[in-house]
Amino acid sequence: MPSSPTPPIELLGDGSRFDGPGVEVPEDALRALESICEVVSEGPDVAEASRDWWPLALHWALAGQVPQLADVVARPTSTEEVVRVAQVCNNARLPLTVTGGRSGVCGAAAPVFGGVVLDATGLVGVVGIDEISGVVEVLPGTFGPDLEDELRVAGLSVGHFPQSFDLATVGGWIGSRGAGQYSTRYGKIEDMVVGLEVVLADGTVVRTGGAPAAAAGPDLTQLFVGSEGTLGVITRVWLRTHPLPEHEQRAAYSFASFGDGVEACRRILRAGATPAVLRLYDAAESQRGQGGDGEECILLVLDEGDAAIVGATMTIVEQSCASVDAEPADVGLVDAWLGHRNDTSALQGLTRKGFVVDTMEIAAPWSKIDSLFDDVRAEMMSVPFARAATCHLSHSYADGACLYFTFAATPPPEEIESTYIALWDAGQRAVLAGGGNLSHHHGVGLNRGRFMAEALGSAHAVLAAVKSTLDPNGIMNPGKLGLPTPFGEVPWP
Ligand SMILES: Cc1cc2nc3c(=O)[nH]c(=O)nc-3n(C[C@H](O)[C@H](O)[C@H](O)COP(=O)(O)OP(=O)(O)OC[C@H]3O[C@@H](n4cnc5c(N)ncnc54)[C@H](O)[C@@H]3O)c2cc1C
Repeated sequence: MPSSPTPPIELLGDGSRFDGPGVEVPEDALRALESICEVVSEGPDVAEASRDWWPLALHWALAGQVPQLADVVARPTSTEEVVRVAQVCNNARLPLTVTGGRSGVCGAAAPVFGGVVLDATGLVGVVGIDEISGVVEVLPGTFGPDLEDELRVAGLSVGHFPQSFDLATVGGWIGSRGAGQYSTRYGKIEDMVVGLEVVLADGTVVRTGGAPAAAAGPDLTQLFVGSEGTLGVITRVWLRTHPLPEHEQRAAYSFASFGDGVEACRRILRAGATPAVLRLYDAAESQRGQGGDGEECILLVLDEGDAAIVGATMTIVEQSCASVDAEPADVGLVDAWLGHRNDTSALQGLTRKGFVVDTMEIAAPWSKIDSLFDDVRAEMMSVPFARAATCHLSHSYADGACLYFTFAATPPPEEIESTYIALWDAGQRAVLAGGGNLSHHHGVGLNRGRFMAEALGSAHAVLAAVKSTLDPNGIMNPGKLGLPTPFGEVPWP
């Protein structure tokens, strides 16, 4: 049995949070969809298919609401069926929101104008493996564990292990431009994609990429990576794989300050070493989950692969840490992290208690990391009812890193939403003002749409122009990436 989406929290009703009804699917279009594939137009499945793991919407779910109910859920199982579903929606000008595991945390999979949800989890399975080149052809609705189970038999792995590994699909990884916990060795998902098959709004099927590198104009594969379902439906994917690692080595270090740890990570990457896992926690997070004493900052390191390369990498790690006076820490901390790294149960418990909790991950050059670490936490903590703003460094590059902020607040129930918005405004604006980008791997969705024009500047108009060329009727996942829509104002915030 292939995996299926995991509901984020109990949904205590089937109402819509946003005012006004979503776009309804007319009777003739519904009949046309029913002649193509399985279609659901009533009952709890429709409400379930209309939400994702956006933390604010978890509060709405407890109040019996999804952001906006879809009118119809279509479940195609082939590219041909996706083509026909797209054509019906395009001809009838119906919003068409493609979803995978619905584990996105920014509301990207929510059908904010109603219409049709295209559930891509019926496009499932590994189609083939080119074992000589190490390339796997896989359908987009395949969940991470199902893909890796099949690859393991061939002695291969893609190496993409997000915290949501059990919750997310290949199509969602690419749609959101995601990152796994081993990304410092294997790269983000964009580094793993060899090529794509995509169905455009009018049903045209395009294929991109297919070779390790190209110089035939701009890279059209990358146009669709991170497009969050706004430019087309990804129906087939080719990903790079690696031989299963023969060797693994772990280490942990303690730093007197977060800045010292950042400097060690910078020296490791500047030296050309790319340990798969390189995670530096601030003092609060070190104490909360990584065995820290409340003062020290803990760095967890793990590398895997060829023994000679791993050995050289870990030697550079050791030298870089020693160069800023780090102390070796208990390597059992890495073992413990491996044991609990995908446990997400705290989110639901805190939400039920009325906490506002979320995370904000951004990337910045090394030269900006220290000031962002201070400024973003300070801005978040200046918001009324803020209780905590903490940070870890989770992915590193030659020129910079990803900072991952976690924040919590305890407002009165009637101020949950305004507090949530205020925390994001404070944090995200501090990031942009301080030289960071909008998102490293969670994407934009609905939550970050309001910052897109500020983050991209005049390039946002370029994105809008691409969108209107590929999707002139604006049907593909309207209301996302801060793009204009023909269905009216985006209804949130
Ligand atoms: C507890 C938790 C931990 C997480 N940890 C990580 C992490 O470590 N790294 C990380 O990168 N993310 C993480 N995420 C976020 C989320 O899991 C990722 O964004 C994931 O890649 C989404 O995949 P999905 O299949 O659930 O996609 P969905 O949520 O269903 O969709 C996400 C976006 O992709 C689009 N999309 C989906 N399928 C297709 C398709 N076939 N064609 C075109 N567009 C498509 C959707 O329209 C939407 O815009 C986490 C989420 C949770 C809840």
